[in-house]
Amino acid sequence: MADVAMGAGKENIENKNGAALFPRVLALAGGVGGARMAAGLQAVLPPGALTVLVNTGDDFEHWGLAVSPDLDTVLYNLADVHNPVMGWGRRDESFATIEALSALGGEDWFRIGDRDLALHLRRNEWLRQGHTLTEVTDRLRRSFGVAGPILPMADEPVRTLVHTDEGDLPFQHYFVRRRCEPVVFDITFVGAAEAHVTSAARHAIHAADLIVICPSNPYLSVDPILAIPHMRRHLLECKAPVVAVSPIVGGRALKGPAAKMMREMGQMPSPLTIIDYFADLLDGFVLDEEDAVLAEAAGLPLLVTNTIMATPAVRAALGQSVLDFGMALRAPLPLPAPAPTGK
Ligand code: GDP
Ligand code: CA
Repeated sequence: MADVAMGAGKENIENKNGAALFPRVLALAGGVGGARMAAGLQAVLPPGALTVLVNTGDDFEHWGLAVSPDLDTVLYNLADVHNPVMGWGRRDESFATIEALSALGGEDWFRIGDRDLALHLRRNEWLRQGHTLTEVTDRLRRSFGVAGPILPMADEPVRTLVHTDEGDLPFQHYFVRRRCEPVVFDITFVGAAEAHVTSAARHAIHAADLIVICPSNPYLSVDPILAIPHMRRHLLECKAPVVAVSPIVGGRALKGPAAKMMREMGQMPSPLTIIDYFADLLDGFVLDEEDAVLAEAAGLPLLVTNTIMATPAVRAALGQSVLDFGMALRAPLPLPAPAPTGK
């Protein structure tokens, strides 16, 4: 499968000459915040116009299975089968397997529901047959009826390692087992240097009319994507404007340890820190209205709006305003050559 990024939906977004009829949007995402933003964009774009490039630094092996938490959170949100209360896994889920497994002395600190397990079995079967994670993810999103591609940041394994006051912790041990309590000094993405930007990701970046860095944890969700060699260069060289939506609102993270980690690493938990962090990549930034007082200090084009995606309606409204804001940042088309004067 050479061209995953050009997958289902192509016919909806190109005319006969291959020119785009609708904007193509690429969203960079981690788990919950990213998945919500992606769902908001999907809601206002034609089918197939959205591609999501997803962090796989949280991936690990559990029960002998390859687990990709952020890919699944994005997939379940775009397929609208997600559990909005937990933030992970599916709605209408049962947990008979993990309960039976726990009774047999199996590991039960990372919960995988029964229906969720079915997806894991399918993914692992295909991976064992030799398909890449990109191909497997594409099969899964088609099975769930998601029109636009969902792309892992790389096909090679990349593992986030969190350096803490309790020693070096693999990501899920820090995040789930230790509930983000250890103090974070630094983070490494093991395997990133040997990983490659996939051809699907490269195509999606260069075909995009707009790139949105979703409100995901900058250190744990966006950095691993940017750590893939040449990923930054592709993002800097592409024609599309890049806009980020702030994952920090009113000095806090809406979920997870982003603000705590910022303090631990000597940074202010502020949208301004996020702007500095992504600096050269950004053409625009989306600030929550709660942080409107920071607008003057931002130093780049801003959209100030409600970014707290509590309901599908807010998600879609944010999707539409991010789209309008980002598309307005595109370089103006060159003026047509002046008509010959006849001299
Ligand atoms: P995880 O992989 O599930 O931990 O999630 P992410 O990497 O996507 O990131 C968690 C970040 O998403 C936190 O900084 C949250 O503040 C942010 N976030 C989650 N939901 C929202 C939302 O509705 N709006 C905004 N602006 N940020 C959000
Ligand atoms: Ca995650």
